[in-house]
Amino acid sequence: MLLFRQLFDQQSSTYTYLLADREGGEAVLIDPVFEQAQRDAALVRELRLRLAWTLETHVHADHVTGASILKHRLGSRIALSARAGAEGADRLLAQGDRIAFGERHLEVRETPGHTAGCITFLLDDRSMAFTGDCLLIRGCGRTDFQGGSAGALYRSVQNQIFTLPGSCLLYPGHDYRGASVTTVAEESRFNPRLGGERSESDFTGYMQNLNLAHPKKMDIAVPANLRCGNLMESAAIPAEPDWAPVTLSFAGIWEIEPYWLEEHASEVQIVDVREPDEFEGELGHLAGAALIPLGALGKRQDELQRDRPVVTVCRSGGRSAQAAVMLQQAGFARVANLAGGMLRWHAERNTVDGGGI
Ligand code: FE
Repeated sequence: MLLFRQLFDQQSSTYTYLLADREGGEAVLIDPVFEQAQRDAALVRELRLRLAWTLETHVHADHVTGASILKHRLGSRIALSARAGAEGADRLLAQGDRIAFGERHLEVRETPGHTAGCITFLLDDRSMAFTGDCLLIRGCGRTDFQGGSAGALYRSVQNQIFTLPGSCLLYPGHDYRGASVTTVAEESRFNPRLGGERSESDFTGYMQNLNLAHPKKMDIAVPANLRCGNLMESAAIPAEPDWAPVTLSFAGIWEIEPYWLEEHASEVQIVDVREPDEFEGELGHLAGAALIPLGALGKRQDELQRDRPVVTVCRSGGRSAQAAVMLQQAGFARVANLAGGMLRWHAERNTVDGGGI
């Protein structure tokens, strides 16, 4: 069965798509964004997938790709069009190529026009296509730089996209109004630039008169993306915490596993954010834990040392997740939530002070 997720980067209004074959767990990510690499890696890990490929629909001018950082962290390989002119890819794609993930695959369709190296990825059963910036929802990408050509874009859409089944879902590279998906039938009728009876000359006339400003990040993004987003020697890479083997959840919370805390309890400050009756109740508490109920944490955070790591604890790991976020926002640099809270701590038979089970 297919697993499919549409992810969004607010800063650049970019959509990133995760597709996976649920049985084998092999996944691909289309158009990852550099700043969202931690988010994407967390989702891949939580869903127990193995990221086989990151795929680019084109060399982007508005954001840096996450391809290289994901390759570095997850071992994924990088693929994009041979016509993109980029260095550092593991595979260069051309019309008709297939990218397999488990039992499923995507087919490559060359759809130049926005850039010379634009491609559309079509799912094996023709139920979905990922059009990048070639065809947007009721719009299309600009055609005035990076080898763009209005005539080429018109022919790409008419010959490679509008010839797909009318019910085929189309997922764009961006949307600036909050729309998320469209279909071939809808766009071939209602796209104001390319649908209905619009001819190639209608379209090129329209595109020649857009007079758009260049994207803000273009001078950084294009050179970086011509190296597949390889910024490995730059300071832009967000540092991973090194005080403990913490993992970032897709919810955005750093978590630590019970086994690590059992062995390293003396190196951290443990903050139990339950109420006093729970702290003394049947689940007991961790040795050396400070009791600061969640409602009081805002006022009492000065009781904690800022130069020592903090692990937050509660019954199930929910309130303590909120506590971890609060402490991070208050400037504590090394904070993690105890995954699963006291319930999991007990289930894994770790040591408890007090309690009666
Ligand atoms: Fe683009």
